[in-house]
Amino acid sequence: MNIAKFLIRAGAVMADHPAAVVGTRRVCTYGQLSARVAALAGALLDRLGLKPGDRVALAMKNCPEYLEALYACWHAGLVAVPVNAKLHAREFAYIIDDSGAGLVLVSPDLAATIGEAMQAAASAPPVVEIGSAAWRALASAAPIGLHPASPLDPAWLFYTSGTTGRPKGAILSHRNLLAMTSAYFMDVDAIAPGDSILHAAPMSHGSGLYILPHVAAMATHVIPESGGFEPAETFQLIAAHPGISFFAAPTMVHRLVGAPQAAGADTRNLKTIIYGGGPMYVEDCKKALALFGPKLAQIYGQGESPMTITALSKRLHADTGHPRFEERLGSVGYAQSVVEVRIAGANDEPLAAGEVGEILVRGETVMAGYWNKPEATRETLRGGWLHTGDMGTLDADGFLTLKDRSKDVIISGGTNIYPREVEEVLLLHPAVKEVSVVGRSHPDWGEEVVAFVVAMPGQGLSSDDLDRLCTDNIARFKRPKEYRFVEALPKNNYGKVLKTELREWATRP
Ligand code: AMP
Repeated sequence: MNIAKFLIRAGAVMADHPAAVVGTRRVCTYGQLSARVAALAGALLDRLGLKPGDRVALAMKNCPEYLEALYACWHAGLVAVPVNAKLHAREFAYIIDDSGAGLVLVSPDLAATIGEAMQAAASAPPVVEIGSAAWRALASAAPIGLHPASPLDPAWLFYTSGTTGRPKGAILSHRNLLAMTSAYFMDVDAIAPGDSILHAAPMSHGSGLYILPHVAAMATHVIPESGGFEPAETFQLIAAHPGISFFAAPTMVHRLVGAPQAAGADTRNLKTIIYGGGPMYVEDCKKALALFGPKLAQIYGQGESPMTITALSKRLHADTGHPRFEERLGSVGYAQSVVEVRIAGANDEPLAAGEVGEILVRGETVMAGYWNKPEATRETLRGGWLHTGDMGTLDADGFLTLKDRSKDVIISGGTNIYPREVEEVLLLHPAVKEVSVVGRSHPDWGEEVVAFVVAMPGQGLSSDDLDRLCTDNIARFKRPKEYRFVEALPKNNYGKVLKTELREWATRP
């Protein structure tokens, strides 16, 4: 079944109900949204000549048109490729080329970046700017009926950076997204039409996935005027919208708790904060519970099994009388209804409760594979299980605790930064002999990036040189906050860099 069916249903059943608001200004009803999507879908096929199965890159910051673009793609049987708005032009170019996008939809604030990306890209798909005359013309096309997608048809290419450094597109089918939507209702929260969802996190990733259950339940989508996360604005929007929920990376929760507005905040309208995407420390969680009350739910997932591996419900966050409450609060909850979770040893053998190993996942939300990457697909899905790259342990009750997330990934501000990607850029400098990048814990961002650099002898090399190189090649948030020049990197007998030791060095002045 086509996942866009839910929007058609909402448009018919709740035609006059607000679908999207910006701040507190109503933008469209479900009836209007559904009609615009059918017209836009018609334009994508009939005017732009796309065919079902073609990819459409969405280079857009949070805006109400995100809903139109996503659902128009699905309605027409196209594959949406939402791209992180913070990426560098070259990274956009890579994803546009890799996905073979036949069209790029860009929000005005990213038009210049995409202009640059198109210079660097090998392909040259048409680019349409949201809100432009060309865009308005598309929305006035003749509407078409829903494309009869089969369950395994790809719907969303979810680009996650791989440990190999290059982003990989996890292929999420209509069935994967339907299972993710169902799991939200079974394992995270109920939603009623009077409720709303605040898109403070990026709609290209965490918040975007939560569009689906909220369209299915006909709730209202609230897009902040700022287009993103500003604590003061978030508190205002919580006070303004009844039954409001939102997805937040742990750093966002941390920033809300520490914001000056927290003390007098009116949080009566708040229904649920769903946090995940990075580790939440127990102390931080308790502070958030003290401020917001038992309105927190946690999810653990990854692009390859979107939002859906385990969940720790609101009820469990409130179960303070349980003898293992603290332990459970430090866990990521138990397997969501549509997946199985297993801990495996070095040879993929299942491990017993309490033993630490790699977290494997099998079930309805697990991707079909990576776009055009058969080898990485085989490796990641070997034996019929998704190998998450995260290490953890299951207790006798089925609660999963992450011990060490994927070996070396740095999670800063809720976004993954893959050290190899930064290392590869730094190694472009002719005066860099060796380099290794690690994360160092940071009170606001969770972690920050530190680069250890061995320079070629006799060559002047400065932090500024390296910083410039990064600015020219990768997104700003991936740049190291500190460059440490060292004589040599610590290595084991096989010549592998000892990152654990470097992480320790990074904490010393
Ligand atoms: P992404 O594919 O970009 O969503 O990143 C997924 C990764 O984020 C996972 O593989 C974990 O390493 C980490 N992650 C996701 N959820 C949690 C969580 N609740 N607690 C700790 N780490 C998490």
